[in-house]
Amino acid sequence: MGRNRKRIMKETMSNEELQVWVEDISIRCFGVPFLHKALFNRRLKSTGGRYFLKGHNIEINPHQLDNFGNEEVEKIIKHELCHYHLHLRGKGYRHRDPDFKQLLLQVGGSRYCQSLPGEKAKRALPYRYKLTCSRCGMEYLRKRKVDPKRYQCGKCSGSLRLSSMILP
Ligand SMILES: [Zn+2]
Ligand SMILES: [Zn+2]
Repeated sequence: MGRNRKRIMKETMSNEELQVWVEDISIRCFGVPFLHKALFNRRLKSTGGRYFLKGHNIEINPHQLDNFGNEEVEKIIKHELCHYHLHLRGKGYRHRDPDFKQLLLQVGGSRYCQSLPGEKAKRALPYRYKLTCSRCGMEYLRKRKVDPKRYQCGKCSGSLRLSSMILP
């Protein structure tokens, strides 16, 4: 193994990928399409996700993905889709409703939105750095500073340029 071999930079999941994922789960587990928007919301703290009664969109906490992985986030998406489908069909969509409890059990959604480890002690780190591919323009967000010389673009193998992002 050469010491100078560059590692491949992995993408963080985009909203577009989340949308495709939610649409897929909706068809696969509920047999009906998800016709609204699914978005990551980095400002969500202890909630895994939420469903909006107005607008019918779903928001997912991206820190859940970092901390618990795909399997746990899939359960959270199922939980939010239970609210979504029941609400749109005029059925009991609240946590206490029998319709909700039954559907959640049926699809295997998470019962509660898991709170994040160490949430009270310290806030989850925001993305502060951005690596941009000099060839294809692909962007990679990172929480910690990385040496761009040690990585190559996961899409086109181009070299990366590091910049810090202004905090909101
Ligand atoms: Zn809920
Ligand atoms: Zn590239």
